[in-house]
Amino acid sequence: MTSLKDPYSRTIDYLRLAVTDRCNLRCVYCMPPEGVPHLSHDDILTYEEITRVLKVAVGAGISKVRLTGGEPLVRKDLDRLVSGIASLRPSLDISLTTNGTLLAAQAEKLAAAGLRRVNISIDSLREETYRSLTRTGRLADALEGVEAALEVGMDPVKINVVVLSHLPEELDDFVRLARRLPVHVRFIEYMSPCGTFDGDYYVPAETVRKALEEYGDLRRCEPPPGAGPARYFSLPGARGTFGFISPVSSHFCPECNRLRLTADGKLRPCLFSPDEIDLLKAMREGAGDGDILEAIRSSLAAKPRDHGGLANGSPGRTMSQIGG
Ligand code: SAM
Ligand code: SF4
Repeated sequence: MTSLKDPYSRTIDYLRLAVTDRCNLRCVYCMPPEGVPHLSHDDILTYEEITRVLKVAVGAGISKVRLTGGEPLVRKDLDRLVSGIASLRPSLDISLTTNGTLLAAQAEKLAAAGLRRVNISIDSLREETYRSLTRTGRLADALEGVEAALEVGMDPVKINVVVLSHLPEELDDFVRLARRLPVHVRFIEYMSPCGTFDGDYYVPAETVRKALEEYGDLRRCEPPPGAGPARYFSLPGARGTFGFISPVSSHFCPECNRLRLTADGKLRPCLFSPDEIDLLKAMREGAGDGDILEAIRSSLAAKPRDHGGLANGSPGRTMSQIGG
């Protein structure tokens, strides 16, 4: 089996793919109220172009692909892309990060196309807080998305929760959710350099972990598949687990296995690296598969050892533009 390595001998087997920069929500920490200027249709990779890049990437050693954005489910017929990617290799691990609000209507088609697992971002389980954090979202829609994902057999279903200052007070709601449903609740530290909010939002994940100890015998446990840098814990009586992703308090660069492809076709070796290689332009100017492979290798050659601490860097574009 071929593999891709970066200059620090890390094996790179995971591609995060932004399928769009557009979103139906306006989360306060991710987008300004008016949204960010949209790329035009012609400036984003077609499904055929994405599949072509992935064919080369999978041939070179990528074994996990995550579809993200922006909100991936606002792009028309996403199941068509999923099935194109799934046909590249049966063992390919394809996942999706979504706000879930459009998932109920698409879960069945996506599962049939080959999507096996999903991460759904829900930062609050209280209608009012959810609305104020997303500016436009309806909590009921996101929860219907969770139910639909479970119904069609997606496994694991993870719930992404960015740890914001409201969370300690609302932690109870997430404990109840993981008791009721077999979902893995993952608390993610807010990264201010890729956020749009200037206020004091940062709460260390450790604060939440300590607060969870109040609910019973919190124990380290086996992570669900695709756990990445998260550490997982179980609580007695809960069907789901609790994960912690701490990019700020203990960054996970030494284990980084990621490469990114933005909606406008730029290869990015690190969320925080401004080094981008324009694959869309190259392909539209006639680049062959060998050139795509060369571009992937060049991007990895530029992968930094680490991002130098989140206080020092800015990705230059928002998470929704790069692919969160
Ligand atoms: N729209 C989809 C969603 O919300 O899941 C996919 C894209 S979104 C950018 C991916 C993830 O990044 C979400 O879980 C979101 O909460 C998270 N995110 C966005 N900005 C962030 C930030 N500044 N710090 C930490 N997580 C962030
Ligand atoms: Fe949209 Fe996801 Fe950003 Fe929220 S976090 S605005 S849902 S891209």
